[in-house]
Amino acid sequence: MPKVTIDDITIEVPAGTTILEAARQIGVNVPPAMCYYSKLKGSGGKCRVCLVKVTKGSDKDPRPMPKLVASCRTTVMDGMEVRNVTSPEVIEARRGVVEFLLVNHPLDCPICDQAGECHLQDLSYDHGLSKSRYDFERRTFERIDIGDKIQLHMNRCILCYRCTQVAEQLTPERKHGVLYRGEVSEISTFIATAVDNEFSGNMIDVCPVGALTDKTFRFKSRVWFTKPMYAHRNCPTCSGKVALWYQGEEVLRVTSRKDKWGESEGFICNECRFDKKNTSDWTIEGPAPVDRHSVISQNHYELPYELPVNQKKLSN
Ligand code: SF4
Repeated sequence: MPKVTIDDITIEVPAGTTILEAARQIGVNVPPAMCYYSKLKGSGGKCRVCLVKVTKGSDKDPRPMPKLVASCRTTVMDGMEVRNVTSPEVIEARRGVVEFLLVNHPLDCPICDQAGECHLQDLSYDHGLSKSRYDFERRTFERIDIGDKIQLHMNRCILCYRCTQVAEQLTPERKHGVLYRGEVSEISTFIATAVDNEFSGNMIDVCPVGALTDKTFRFKSRVWFTKPMYAHRNCPTCSGKVALWYQGEEVLRVTSRKDKWGESEGFICNECRFDKKNTSDWTIEGPAPVDRHSVISQNHYELPYELPVNQKKLSN
């Protein structure tokens, strides 16, 4: 098995593993990813935020790679040495990429439903400039309803292609994609045709920004005022394993469970997501683990707390 060293930590990984996946296995100093999604075939290679510096190609050919490479698309070679956060060049390049991603992205976090769990928000906090150097008019679009439960707000889209891959890989008939190229590219449903199939809601979960939002949750609460609980039901369509987001005793939204990289552990169907918003629909398993850096953990959510009475009954 090839050995790769990333920021001075060496790990042995199966042949064919990418630098990003190897870094995830190490678990520290992991390059960020806005377009790569391990559960979607062909994802990655679009956003460039995961750029790293390969200072030694391999034991056989120790020459460094001449340019920074996308870690989600570059496979490790035996003896490869990689610099991520220990390379000022990488940090500088990532800053540039974030600045480009923010060229057209509105800074409307105070009113965006994704705020608090937005990967671009985290990234711009870590790498962004405090003000824009872009003087031209930003791209603006009318909001589009994708079916009756999902809204597309293209102004916020960073063209990561994840949602089109969900449409392509999880739904029988692809009805939306990316139109045009370059600066004028846009996600479209081709004349706003509704994407109406039972897994379309997963587009919301994979969208790293607030471009695709759940219309049943829009503007209901800030994410840090809600408490996620793991729950399951016997669903004939999907695994039925979800996270319920509570405010008090009310389920405000249902999402798939996310792993520590922010990816869905398993895609869920629209019935579970949009139509099962009563606690009695679910068997509650307990509080969902919350990543330490999440805004939700700022309220000490990880500490055990009293369950609402009806959840107590169900979890017994
Ligand atoms: S709508 Fe969201 S998931 Fe789709 S391409 Fe844009 S940013 Fe990516």
